[in-house]
Amino acid sequence: MNPHFASPMTSHPIPYPRAVVDAARLRLQRRLADRLFALTAFVAPTEAIITDAAGQSASTMVDGVQFRLRGDELMIVRPCAHCGTGRFASEPLERPADLDYALAVWAPYHRECEPQDPPDDVSW
Ligand SMILES: [Zn+2]
Repeated sequence: MNPHFASPMTSHPIPYPRAVVDAARLRLQRRLADRLFALTAFVAPTEAIITDAAGQSASTMVDGVQFRLRGDELMIVRPCAHCGTGRFASEPLERPADLDYALAVWAPYHRECEPQDPPDDVSW
């Protein structure tokens, strides 16, 4: 173990949790940071991780992409690909390939924003 390697998670003083919810939110922040690091090698600063009031989910932005942890499921959240509003959660991201797919291929739509007609097939 390299003694010069300092975990970024321990370099900030962590406020002592005063309530169960605070403790849950801290655990959630750390779990999101751990999962994000495992998937992307990105170190998310704890103070940039937002948790909901009930300590059920945590989210942070990486390069303009919102990552959310809910329970044990890490996902990305995107707006509608057509109108740019709304928030749609991807499938759970288990492996880097899942993230690649979610970023490069996945395009969520509101029901009313889905492309009405398939593109014309000009291959024949
Ligand atoms: Zn839409």
